[in-house]
Amino acid sequence: MQRIDHIINGEVVVGSSGRVNAVFNPATGLQTKEVALAAVDEVDAAVAAAQAAYDGWRSMSIARRTKLMFEFRNLVVAAQEELAELLTSEHGKVFSDSLGEIQRGIENIEFACDIADHLKGSVNEQASTGIDVTTVRRPLGVVAGITPFNFPAMIPLWMAPNAVAAGNTFVLKPSERDPSVPRRIVELFHEAGFPPGVVNLVNGDKVAVDRLLEHPDVKAVSFVGSTPIAKYVYETGTSHGKRIQALGGAKNHMVVLPDADIDLAADAAVSAAYGSAGERCMAISVVAAVGEVADPLIDAIKLRMEKLVIGDGMDPASEMGPLVTREHRDRVAGYIDSARRQGATIVVDGNEMAFEGAGFFLGTSLIDRVTTDMDCYRDEIFGPVLSIVRCASYTEAVKLISDNRWGNGTAIFTRDGGAARRFQEDADAGMVGINVPVPVPVGYHSFGGWKSSLFGDIAMYGPEGVRFYTRPKVITTRWPDPATSTVNLGFPTND
Ligand code: NAD
Repeated sequence: MQRIDHIINGEVVVGSSGRVNAVFNPATGLQTKEVALAAVDEVDAAVAAAQAAYDGWRSMSIARRTKLMFEFRNLVVAAQEELAELLTSEHGKVFSDSLGEIQRGIENIEFACDIADHLKGSVNEQASTGIDVTTVRRPLGVVAGITPFNFPAMIPLWMAPNAVAAGNTFVLKPSERDPSVPRRIVELFHEAGFPPGVVNLVNGDKVAVDRLLEHPDVKAVSFVGSTPIAKYVYETGTSHGKRIQALGGAKNHMVVLPDADIDLAADAAVSAAYGSAGERCMAISVVAAVGEVADPLIDAIKLRMEKLVIGDGMDPASEMGPLVTREHRDRVAGYIDSARRQGATIVVDGNEMAFEGAGFFLGTSLIDRVTTDMDCYRDEIFGPVLSIVRCASYTEAVKLISDNRWGNGTAIFTRDGGAARRFQEDADAGMVGINVPVPVPVGYHSFGGWKSSLFGDIAMYGPEGVRFYTRPKVITTRWPDPATSTVNLGFPTND
């Protein structure tokens, strides 16, 4: 059985806690590996290594740090297929999705390659007579990243490149469900020439997370995961005086107006709801169908669902893979029955689709006439289940979004520019798509939801990411009047 251990100070450290987590290939249902779960002293060792590396790293020139980041970028580009295969073998998503995820991660590394520009401060000359004022952005020290299972490559790359490019040292605590890709990424940092201790990896669970949140040498924590844990991380970390950005769950609505292009909207709904088996924080889980659009839209979605090929993510024919674990698959499946009991209309029941073998597969589901009091609406399902809420008007659809406790992403499908522009303003969410179902910002903007989708006030990656990993220092300077200098500067004197 292959074992995944920690990487501390550039060395593999075999976990000594005696606790491990089983890692599965979701397509076969078989355990393939086990991952060490860190004890407190192992987290302490990683933080100590990062702390010891900090002074040398932050004082290294931007030119040199940038060269290392370029080298890392090139290694990740060269390793994309290897990483994607590893990703599919533990997460389950189809190979093309895994490759796409790595591409999005590379965007973030490329942004970090331009750190010289992002760290530029600002200067006022002659703020007062003979006085200049300069603001520079300084790194924080040791920062930690705690990441979820659903993007094991992209989300560590949302964090680590900007954090270390800005001069911090980093401790990554990835999900214990698919730990191989984050481990390979940390190896690639070292292969690129990053000094030992600058990027460290501890695998683990709540024990490791709690230690990072209370450790006095950890200055900031970036977290991405479910809402209850994000809230916990935010409250615990800030109570220990740390800067925290904690991105939580989501329930993303796609509004379809009666004038929308039905084919475009149906294509978008199917790819955004069922892509990656719905295990995306930006997945569409609710279509707010306005007026008479509901029936033709449902027909068009159903037609596409029938053609969707579900299978092993490494099979090029597969368009959707299995869910990440058996327990998660069973939990998602339960929402179809609860929706039926609570009075919704099940248009397609994913439980009726049969699969060979022991993989964690589930068919796609479509539920119509969903109301806001049903479990399938109230909870984040995080699986291939799409709910349709019928709305009488645009205003009703917008209210649905505003009343929802999450506010990660949302989208509108319409041909009406005025309605789209209005929606851009009205939508109570951090990321908005106009005829774009999954509006994940490019690496040079920033990612962050509103309401229960983000605890803290600084979004992740891009310019906000650099802001999170740095703090301003303002320097006020006065030099003696050159006329009084002891050096002969060639000024006329009174003699
Ligand atoms: P999760 O909350 O279970 O786990 C996230 C991280 O927290 C993991 O590293 C895990 O080890 C740790 N963790 C789990 N339980 C903990 C506990 N009790 N105490 C301390 N730490 C704990 O999330 P997940 O299932 O891995 O990921 C899916 C969730 O992440 C979904 O809710 C999804 O919406 C969300 N997500 C959000 C975004 C976003 O950008 N907002 C992006 C991706 C995923």
